[in-house]
Amino acid sequence: MVVPTGSTRVAGVIGDPVRHSLSPALHNAAFAELGLDWTYLAFEVPVGRGADAVAAMRALGIEGLSVTMPHKDTVAAAVDELSPAAALLGAANCVRRDGDRLIGENTDGAGFLRSLRTQAGVDPAGLRTVVLGAGGAARAVIVALAAEGALVTVVNRSPDAAARAAALGGEAGGATAEALGGRSGSASVGGAEAARDADVVVNATPLGMTDSDPLPVDPALLSDSQIVVDLIYRPERTPLLEAAAEAGATTLNGVGMLLYQAAEQFTMWTGHDAPVDAMAAAVGLDLAGS
Ligand code: NAP
Repeated sequence: MVVPTGSTRVAGVIGDPVRHSLSPALHNAAFAELGLDWTYLAFEVPVGRGADAVAAMRALGIEGLSVTMPHKDTVAAAVDELSPAAALLGAANCVRRDGDRLIGENTDGAGFLRSLRTQAGVDPAGLRTVVLGAGGAARAVIVALAAEGALVTVVNRSPDAAARAAALGGEAGGATAEALGGRSGSASVGGAEAARDADVVVNATPLGMTDSDPLPVDPALLSDSQIVVDLIYRPERTPLLEAAAEAGATTLNGVGMLLYQAAEQFTMWTGHDAPVDAMAAAVGLDLAGS
């Protein structure tokens, strides 16, 4: 590892809790792999101090920030400008500099799409997709899929959250319709049985992180024509992915989304393609292990 000097450029993650974050290992591995004189730190920033952290980034000349719980909303409100995805979601998971201006970005959706495209070889345009969940990760995925022309059904325990997430997806689908030649993506609320006719099923709930969790969807609804994605990355093989593989489906875990969302941030800050294999190795995750 490079010992920091007066010219070392600094990036980091803000969050609380943040000490368990994989981001320092991911980004420092990428800097080392490319021989860049950069370093990446974890800053424990308590709830309510997200805007102060953005001011500190400005004052200290920090080059880039990753943003995690509980600051995604407050940071989105504190930067000078938002990317279209961050503006729609009202949440920034990353801040980059453009000269003196700070731009809030949200790379979760782009990370998910890159994982789907590169690892499963799938273009979501026109596909029937089901997203289980309507939280932060689900909303990023719903917006990304709808913006690419997919037809999204949102299935969630709380109907209000499902309706809000579907409305965001509908807005994203409509906004990109012109760029897609008039073929617009859409999002609506539905029941779990929609998984039976889906091309892609995405679990964006935490169900599967512990052994005692029930499956997030009835495995009888899964089949060999489908791609089943679980956003969970630890464990790398959830009971849902086991059941989906048994049904003959193509499976994908959350490692790709985790790595590619970080890779997008790395490229925004440094201008370099991220060495994702070195990043995966640094945190003991297997990009090919889905
Ligand atoms: P979140 O904002 O807390 O949302 C959780 C969602 O799951 C909500 O829609 C919630 O439904 C639903 N849910 C929670 N417990 C449930 C239960 N027992 N039964 C049914 N539904 C339940 O969480 P998040 O940040 O979106 O994260 C969701 C998952 O995605 C986590 O497993 C996380 O590790 C993973 N994730 C992965 C990546 C990646 O890069 N691979 C990135 C972010 C998140 P209600 O609306 O009814 O509460």
